[in-house]
Amino acid sequence: MALKSARRPVLAHIIPTRRCNLSCGYCNEFNSFSKPVPIDEMLRRIDLLAALGTMVITLSGGEPLLHPQMEEIVRQIRRHGIIAEVLTNGYLLTPERIKRLNRAGLDHMQISIDNVQPDEVSKKSLKVLDQKLRWLAELAEFHVNINSVVGASIEHPEEALTIARRAIELGLSSTVGVIHDHSGQLRPLSAEQEKVVQEIASLSRPIFSAARHNPWQENLIRGLPNEWHCRAGGRYLYVCEDGLVHYCSQQRGHPAIPLSRYTHEDLERESGTTKPCAPYCTVSCVHRVALLDSLRENPRSTLERLFPQPEASGQQRFPVPVRILTALFLPSNPTSSRSFLRRTALRILGLS
Ligand code: SF4
Ligand code: SF4
Repeated sequence: MALKSARRPVLAHIIPTRRCNLSCGYCNEFNSFSKPVPIDEMLRRIDLLAALGTMVITLSGGEPLLHPQMEEIVRQIRRHGIIAEVLTNGYLLTPERIKRLNRAGLDHMQISIDNVQPDEVSKKSLKVLDQKLRWLAELAEFHVNINSVVGASIEHPEEALTIARRAIELGLSSTVGVIHDHSGQLRPLSAEQEKVVQEIASLSRPIFSAARHNPWQENLIRGLPNEWHCRAGGRYLYVCEDGLVHYCSQQRGHPAIPLSRYTHEDLERESGTTKPCAPYCTVSCVHRVALLDSLRENPRSTLERLFPQPEASGQQRFPVPVRILTALFLPSNPTSSRSFLRRTALRILGLS
């Protein structure tokens, strides 16, 4: 269990193909020519991640649904009892593909939608994808989250709100990301963009949902740095199409060790390494992983950071679900339930 052990990866992103069927203007994670990683090699990499104790594996790209044996990869992840997630642009979804993903045992899908009408920067538009969302709402047995992006190269930030409302109307969940530059760093937001981010976060109803747990994002949208320890290379791994482990999609080349030679010593060393890019980092999945460790190591101060109280209110009074969590996490009340902690961890990761 990730909250109990600091020695295993919580989350690994793995790339089944670098190729993408789109070419978004802000993206540095795709090309138009790479072949899919051969299936035997993909299955071997899943086995290697399982041997390291990985808890969640996310198939990313490029466009992962371009891999002809995607469902077989998902099945292998599930065989190991690991949670399987796909990040996709959604273009290749059909009712039949959704049913195949159901049968493979997929746990979670995230689709990024950037605008209402396609434009020069991005074709990931609600207009094109709305039918896919309706199919997902009707047929998917896995959890579906729609992520919209706000940032310098997105021309109409208010459209992110339209996208989030549509996702919720269909019974899907919704999050918003702040766009980063080509090294994963912040591009400051305008007042209008900042307002959109806040409104989307407030659309999320459950008090302990993923969309509410972005204390780092609030700093970033104000142009402020975050004080945190990035555990990429240890608690989070990024495995590229060549089978090398990197810190994240934006810091490829470090440490760039083959997954087949990656050991628990590597996990520990890289987890402890300070990354100079951390203060303005926008890579939200790595922040979420760090939040889990922060909850494990400093539960009370982490909960206080997640749920700051208005100065006038005086005494710290968390919402009821958080008071329950406090009782479970704090050392004075060691009555923790494994399944409850697991659900909490998955919510922080945005997987339930
Ligand atoms: S769909 Fe995703 S991977 Fe493809 S170009 Fe756009 S952002 Fe990049
Ligand atoms: S701080 Fe970590 S996750 Fe963020 S860009 Fe740097 S290495 Fe990647």
